[in-house]
Amino acid sequence: MAAEGIDVINLSVGEPDFPTPDNIGKAAKKAIDDHFTKYTHNDGILPLRQAIAKKLLEENGLKYEPDEIIVSSGAKNCIYNLCMALLNAGDEVIIPAPYWVSYPEMVNLAGGTPVIIQTKEESGFRITPAELSAAISPSTKALILNNPSNPTGAAYHKDELVKIAEIAANEGILVISDEIYEKLVFDGFEFVSFASLGEKIKERTIVVNGMSKSYSMTGWRIGYAAGPKEYIMAMSIVQSHNTSNPTSISQMAALEALTGPQHEISRMRSEFQIRRNYMLDRLRGLPGVSCYEPRGAFYLFPNISSYFKKEFDGMQIRNSYGMAYYLLKHAHVAVVPGEAFGSEGYIRLSYSTSMKKIETAMDRIAAALAELQPTREEKVISLNNTITKRKGPVETETSVGPELRNALVAEAESYLSHEGYYEWNANILGVVIQLRTNLPHLYDFWVENWYPAQLETDLEPHGVIYAVGWIPGREPRAYYSGDTRTAIFFKSGYYGQVRSLAIGMSDDIVSRMSDSYSVRGLVMDFDGDGLIMIAPKGVGKSAYFANLLRHPKSKIVADDTVFVRIGSDVTADAAERKFYMRTDFVAKYPDLAVLFDKSKCENVVTNRNECVNGPCQRLDTCRLDKGSPFCYEASPVSRAMLDPYWIGGAGKHAKRTSLKWALLFKNDPVSPIISNPSPEEAARFCEEGLSQSGALRSEPFFNPHILAKGSDRVDSRRLFYQRLFGRVKPYLINVGKASAEEIQGRINGIMGI
Ligand code: PMP
Repeated sequence: MAAEGIDVINLSVGEPDFPTPDNIGKAAKKAIDDHFTKYTHNDGILPLRQAIAKKLLEENGLKYEPDEIIVSSGAKNCIYNLCMALLNAGDEVIIPAPYWVSYPEMVNLAGGTPVIIQTKEESGFRITPAELSAAISPSTKALILNNPSNPTGAAYHKDELVKIAEIAANEGILVISDEIYEKLVFDGFEFVSFASLGEKIKERTIVVNGMSKSYSMTGWRIGYAAGPKEYIMAMSIVQSHNTSNPTSISQMAALEALTGPQHEISRMRSEFQIRRNYMLDRLRGLPGVSCYEPRGAFYLFPNISSYFKKEFDGMQIRNSYGMAYYLLKHAHVAVVPGEAFGSEGYIRLSYSTSMKKIETAMDRIAAALAELQPTREEKVISLNNTITKRKGPVETETSVGPELRNALVAEAESYLSHEGYYEWNANILGVVIQLRTNLPHLYDFWVENWYPAQLETDLEPHGVIYAVGWIPGREPRAYYSGDTRTAIFFKSGYYGQVRSLAIGMSDDIVSRMSDSYSVRGLVMDFDGDGLIMIAPKGVGKSAYFANLLRHPKSKIVADDTVFVRIGSDVTADAAERKFYMRTDFVAKYPDLAVLFDKSKCENVVTNRNECVNGPCQRLDTCRLDKGSPFCYEASPVSRAMLDPYWIGGAGKHAKRTSLKWALLFKNDPVSPIISNPSPEEAARFCEEGLSQSGALRSEPFFNPHILAKGSDRVDSRRLFYQRLFGRVKPYLINVGKASAEEIQGRINGIMGI
């Protein structure tokens, strides 16, 4: 085991560790001396494009004119410009995994959709023609082929490329051929440029290459692309609006690199070959490790999955992040988790460092792996988690007239074919709301969330929600037609909004039918008497609520919304069977974690890259780094469908209570800690629904679910709140004037505990 304080050996680098050759530096100095320091031609200086054309002709057998070539600030910049020029929403780009980390992100940034082909170690991490054909759809725009590949070092022989080219040409898709590691190939491997396979495929190929790897020039930021003029022109337009030309001085350096002496390349290649052989041997000698023998680049991509579930000091390695974390902390060697390249079970080691460091690093890795022990007691938590593409609400249009409603229903129904169609009736306090969807996740959560209503019956539902998933080219949106009690929800699998539509629709229906309204608040029963807490976000009401729940006489009724009816009593009913809760509550209430483990979850983060919990990410205690397969705290939008019975057993849960106290919360520096507003004042406070965060935002009645927004409905809701506070005494609590302890004491005092 490596001692504390020891230097970390970095095997995660993505650039050659050789200096940029002197002649290149001299060319740059000369450019400065000659004042060649102004804007250049947008696409790169002509002599450089001519030199690239000469290189492509002489080394790759490719004939391009200078206007079929663009020079950019790195190969990365070329690919990004191409994605921006090429892709529209819904366009798919096929990317074989393991992939260079930036490919899917660039496609996403351009609004396209990455389609991943998972290649196998057994097939040399190369795609097969059958795999490619299977991945192509009518929406496929392009394939990104990285040959030789980062991170695996896999490279394609000519006959393999020919088969891929045939498919690409027949299917009419573009091939983005990233050939940046072209010169770093081993064992006499013969590199073939994709576009050189024939005129037909050349017309469909953009060759991408650059100076970074071959000339050890990563920081100089020069890459280039060659292809049919119309694509290069489109890339040029994108480039003109973001970076303009790449640096003038670097262009002069690149010109020298391409036209000057080339012997440094073969020196670098043979050094890499020696290191690759050594490291590969060492890796293959480790028990339980297999490793593909790369044909190029300067990385090794060993399979370390046989160490998963092993542990050191009670810490279990669960995934490649966990392994990378373990090696960093215990072997003091930095590697990159395979997950980052889309392939779990592997790590990437770069041999772009000195032989001496590689030897030490391999000794340390071997020792650290040998210390991992089988887990004695296996605690496997497999999360029931769905990741939705959209993780928040889409805009809702609430005043949809009959014609638009009929057109939207017809549109929705045209996508709800019998296969993959789901329908279920929920009983929301006697109101039957039917969900019709083609998204299994929404159906699943819907069934879990509500009490059932009869389905096999003549009974017409009181309201219908259509939720339709992916429709190419359509904008994501929700619509509500109050007259026909129909909601139509397009292109989002986010359950929170379907739930909200269901509450809003039920509210609209029951308020007209039986003078009962949805009221947003935390509700508990306290020995037969009910308490409701109504508040804007950020006043800390849930902490007071949680403290009251610790009292043996309290029972939880609802964590979000109740339906309130004013009769001889003022009753508050929970409409939902389950609580749709934020999982990041575990930060404050760690006991919830074991309950979430058993719950259906949505959008719980399973990948370090998706963590948005900034402050937590900087800590050394990151669960994801340590190998946990998920983290409840990594995002504010992840949810669990929690059974309230699990919180404290059936005895801790009540479905109904008779309201006695209404606590309204605000936060300002002047008002008294507690005041007793009149019913009208309390109703006005709720209707204004002002945010307390300083931003002037208003959520009428602090209730985002309300769909019935016509003035008659607002008037009747206002009157309802006035009647409510005429019967249930309101207390206005100002959290800005006292400590949390004092506020809690005052609340306890109101409730007589
Ligand atoms: N493509 C691949 C496969 C790479 O690995 C890299 C660098 N890591 C690049 C492109 C980017 O190269 P450049 O420095 O030219 O932007």
